[in-house]
Amino acid sequence: MTVILDGKKLRDELLDELKNKLSSYNVIPKLVVILVGENPASRIYVNNKKKTAEKLGINSEVIVYPADISEKELLAKIEELNVDNSVNAILVQLPLPAHIDKSKVINAISPLKDVDGFTPENSGKLLAGENPYVYPCTPKGILLLLDKYGIEVDGKHVVIVGRSNIVGKPLAVMLLNRNATVTVCHSHTKNLSEITKTADILISAVGEKLIEDNMVKMNCVIVDVGIFKDINGKTRGDVDFEKVYEKTSYISPVPGGVGPMTIASLMLNTVELFDLQTKRSCD
Ligand code: NAP
Repeated sequence: MTVILDGKKLRDELLDELKNKLSSYNVIPKLVVILVGENPASRIYVNNKKKTAEKLGINSEVIVYPADISEKELLAKIEELNVDNSVNAILVQLPLPAHIDKSKVINAISPLKDVDGFTPENSGKLLAGENPYVYPCTPKGILLLLDKYGIEVDGKHVVIVGRSNIVGKPLAVMLLNRNATVTVCHSHTKNLSEITKTADILISAVGEKLIEDNMVKMNCVIVDVGIFKDINGKTRGDVDFEKVYEKTSYISPVPGGVGPMTIASLMLNTVELFDLQTKRSCD
């Protein structure tokens, strides 16, 4: 029988635990989210993050800039937030307008306030097999979900479709660090279905309808990271859920799978950074 990997349920459990933990804090952690421009999807993501933080009692501030803000001005704001002791976590919502160098902006965030775990120091630690200050939110959420359902990755063949810096690449490293055998596929991969059919665990992070039932082996585990709107405006994942479902042992739905876990991880990361910073300032 197929088991649904219920990200909403786990998110609620994790956030309840976090809320309890925060009730003993004298100072409230603070997350600052920077949003540049009027991308409607980004606006929704940022609002969800703010709403979740508020429910937990995390102090959250959203700074909105017009799309034509200069790179210099944005970098100056990040520098100001880096040295502001009341700010524990900084997130720059991606994508950024084309005239702004994304790498420069990410690199400007203090690694100790880098709640996405994207700075070179944090991603370098990850690659070196060390613990970064925090792990990137979506890969972290996926591993929390697999752990919750007792899905062992050690020795398993995990196929990841998608090699972005925010999902595929860090996830591949995190799985390697847990002794999985990892194959990463992308738009230049030849014979994709021959590879996906060998997966014990298939994780798809592309953003289009891609994974059909003839691309998966019986009893595999599927994690669907992709999100897009179909022609009827319905939110969909990369995987043809209805057709693939019967063949899987576990499968995450869209919506309700990885998305809620990403937000939960962001909240966990904010509190982890707060703990690290306050411990440091006590030393
Ligand atoms: P991205 O940066 O656009 O990366 C997409 C990846 O998919 C790229 O590596 C691309 O290959 C690969 N790809 C595209 N078409 C392909 C094909 N036909 N066959 C195989 N690989 C293909 O996207 P992202 O930021 O990682 O996000 C991916 C999806 O996950 C999006 O739908 C996004 O909305 C969703 N997402 C969801 C969450 C969540 O919390 N649920 C979080 C993050 C992202 P190339 O590298 O060769 O171009």
